[in-house]
Amino acid sequence: MIKFDILIKNAVILTMDSKMTLFDNGFIGIQNDIITYLGATKPNCSAEEIIDAENNIIMPGLINSHTHSGMTMFRGVADDLSLMNWLNNYIWPLEDKFVTEKNVRIASKLAIAEMILSGTTTFNDMYFFTGTTAENCKEIGMRAVLGEAVIDFPASVKKTSEKYFIEFIEKYSNDDLIIPSIVPHSPYSCSKELLQRIKLLSDENNLPVHIHISETLDEVNLIKDRTGMTPVEYLDSIDFLNHRTIAVHCVHLTDNDINILKIRNVGIVNSPESNLKLASGIAEVPKMIKSGLTVSLGTDGPASNNNLDMFEEMSITVKIHKALYNDSTVMNAREVLKMGTINGAKVLGINNLTGSLEVGKKADLIMIDVKKPHLTPMYDPYSHLTYCAKGSDVDTVIINGKLILKKRKFLKLDLEKVMLDIKNISNEINAYKN
Ligand SMILES: [Zn+2]
Repeated sequence: MIKFDILIKNAVILTMDSKMTLFDNGFIGIQNDIITYLGATKPNCSAEEIIDAENNIIMPGLINSHTHSGMTMFRGVADDLSLMNWLNNYIWPLEDKFVTEKNVRIASKLAIAEMILSGTTTFNDMYFFTGTTAENCKEIGMRAVLGEAVIDFPASVKKTSEKYFIEFIEKYSNDDLIIPSIVPHSPYSCSKELLQRIKLLSDENNLPVHIHISETLDEVNLIKDRTGMTPVEYLDSIDFLNHRTIAVHCVHLTDNDINILKIRNVGIVNSPESNLKLASGIAEVPKMIKSGLTVSLGTDGPASNNNLDMFEEMSITVKIHKALYNDSTVMNAREVLKMGTINGAKVLGINNLTGSLEVGKKADLIMIDVKKPHLTPMYDPYSHLTYCAKGSDVDTVIINGKLILKKRKFLKLDLEKVMLDIKNISNEINAYKN
């Protein structure tokens, strides 16, 4: 008889495996951090904890493939501005003043709480004082790909030294929740020499490299003026791109750019809400998918979205392309759910660990309560998760085999305290601004 730590019964299970296996009434057995049983029949077993998932859909935890978790402190602080005005006159000066280790610890904790409450079980982060974000992840039980943002220009937001991120990489090189990465902000804010040093470090240590590419036309024109090439062509010319590159945005790509990204096997992250809100443009996701690129989804930072709800991101993604292409079949619910789960894991290089529910993978899963008016009746769970569900429908979250959120209550996190702490920071920001 098998002894599980957790047995889940009575669930509609979307595995998101390569065959898109679905169980109408299935069972999941978890031992330690691993899924050791998944099937339609109850195994001969006992369990420490049995979760009855009646009226719930179970799916892999969502993967937010690009965010800036420390920016929750700037949520809504400046909106309805052009990207460069927003960055130069608001975000970067505020970051210069308020991005401290103490504030990032509070802000990233709020981001992690918000992400778990809306079904994200892994996030890929680009921010400063990453050590504090990693400590929050360990404390709460969140999985994350984390790296210290490195930037040459403008120097005012450069908070930490190269030594800091090297030490971070060494500290978390064998962790069960944290995957270290290297995070150059973008080709326009990092020098060629810095980018080449980063590429070398990535090659030597097999580390993912997380970078914004071709977010706006201004950026593309800036790089063209400097080099005569598009950002993708430029990065390829310095031998920067490979399967470890996590290319965020990719809004303005030429056919040649797409071809280069495909040849170099680069993973793509699309952040449509941020691109819409900042009027950066709309990345041609269907074209990228058709070309064979792996495209995932990220919310981008909470100051440019302004939330971290991946359900919203999935819903918007599929709808904007239907409208843009004037073709309601150009993308579908299953495809966008892949973008939010298994494609995220592939782009981050962790699909051996997470991204789908399969025996042998880490138990990272979410339960969505569908016994609600806006989710009734249910003919197709894929459609429901894409077109009806919201982050707030997430009921229970398991990460790395541990129950983190049960019936929308955190088991270890004092959410009231986190919200009070961030309120205090916002009071300071308000006083400074006015
Ligand atoms: Zn970003």
